[in-house]
Amino acid sequence: MTDRRAITVARGDGIGPEIMDATLKVLEHAGAKIEPEFIDIGEKMYLSGHSSGITDEAWESLRRTKVFFKAPITTPQGGGYKSLNVTIRKTLGLYANVRPSVSYTPLIKSKHPDMDLVIIRENEEDLYAGIEHQQTPEVVQCLKLITRPGTEKIVRYAFEYARKNNRKKVTCFSKDNIMKLTDGLFHQVFNEIAEEYPEIETEHWIIDIGIAKIADTPQDFDVIVMPNLYGDIASDVASQITGSVGLAGSANIGDQCAMFEAIHGSAPDIAGKGIANPSGLIQGAIQMLVHIDQPEVAERIHNAWLKTLEDGVYTGDIAKGAPSVGTMEFAEAVIERLGQKPETFTPVEYKKNEQNDENDHKLSPQVKDRPKADVVRQLDGVDVFLFNNELTSNEIGQKLEELAGPDFKLAVITNRGVKVYPSGFPETFTTDHWRCRFEGTGEVTNIDILNLLSRIEKAGLDFIKTENLYKFNDKLGYSLAQGQ
Ligand code: NAD
Repeated sequence: MTDRRAITVARGDGIGPEIMDATLKVLEHAGAKIEPEFIDIGEKMYLSGHSSGITDEAWESLRRTKVFFKAPITTPQGGGYKSLNVTIRKTLGLYANVRPSVSYTPLIKSKHPDMDLVIIRENEEDLYAGIEHQQTPEVVQCLKLITRPGTEKIVRYAFEYARKNNRKKVTCFSKDNIMKLTDGLFHQVFNEIAEEYPEIETEHWIIDIGIAKIADTPQDFDVIVMPNLYGDIASDVASQITGSVGLAGSANIGDQCAMFEAIHGSAPDIAGKGIANPSGLIQGAIQMLVHIDQPEVAERIHNAWLKTLEDGVYTGDIAKGAPSVGTMEFAEAVIERLGQKPETFTPVEYKKNEQNDENDHKLSPQVKDRPKADVVRQLDGVDVFLFNNELTSNEIGQKLEELAGPDFKLAVITNRGVKVYPSGFPETFTTDHWRCRFEGTGEVTNIDILNLLSRIEKAGLDFIKTENLYKFNDKLGYSLAQGQ
């Protein structure tokens, strides 16, 4: 029986095969105990009729090895091809995207020589759940979903990552001053879980000033955890200001499976020339080796790679006109330096899992068993959304006042979240989408709501969706309208 760990490898498109071959050569010489299983994904698969860019056989390999080492792929333009990255992330439940951003001054110019931060982005929820609807001719909607279990997983992952990697601080970014329920939950769960890690410093920033601070004083950050969309944006800002997007790797981690790659794309403009920089993929490989519990190999490669840069061996993208080497020569230079440590850069160290268990990569982010049914949910009323482009807000309001009773009273009508009835301002801009809030006059049931909807329908008003208003343990489970 082999002691090599099976991993699924995709050589990808464009520069993918060149940088993958170079990286695998480095891994082999460094003594990585891996057994690559090659799969075809990407452009060829898209163009041969697999609309998601991946075949059933490839899925089979991924589900068996549970570790995916992926070179960049080309998504053909037009034709409605789905992003393979999003498909893989969602199908395999890769809930954590881990993106380290490190500056390499003086080698690579950066305004931020001391930058060394890691962004941990929630990868499955938020606006990326992909639930969008057109509700009226003028209004489309995207649902922002933040779940308690999903947030517990990503926040716990961030703290465990910090603990394991000897990082001192975890920062949370959210916009809970505006989105009090969704981002409010994210922030609240962060505070709850932080209590379990008293040795780690914590802080929270509103996302806008948070990203501005990354751009200005990135050295103040260590590990930062945030919801999906913010993480997407913040991690690109962070990579860009290191001055070396081409040197960064990324890990996508789930409970069962994980995927490792470079953050750059397939660079079709330089494909086939043998000049691409394999460093981003080498960084992805280093993250993978730590994940499959071969940290000593990761450390050897990382230090040799730093020494290579320190010795002035650059590919063209870094050399910027100075003498440079090709993809394979760069890899060979790294191989020659295996066992050496950098002198200017700080050598890296990776710890072995204490349990010596590969599954420790999960960092126990599992949602803890929680008592399930101790939440008292009380139905308070309903928001009925109408499509209307004929009546004024006062006309709608007066009609609905008549239809509300006796079970409900009409509390407010809003348009794009702003109160327009009662006592709306004529200056308020309105569109064809009206949110009409009915509060129960006593106990409310779903039958009461159905009867209300039936009265609305019979009166000739066009409702397009409803949203029940609940209290959970006496706490409002809905936001108040602006002006309510
Ligand atoms: P890109 O990252 O491929 O290239 C941007 C620029 O950076 C190009 O000038 C390129 O030559 C250069 N570059 C990128 N990687 C380099 C490397 N390793 N060494 C030297 N130079 C490098 O971005 P793009 O041009 O916007 O996208 C090209 C294709 O890659 C598209 O089809 C896109 O969909 C795909 N893509 C894939 C992934 C992925 O698979 N994870 C990520 C991003 C983009």
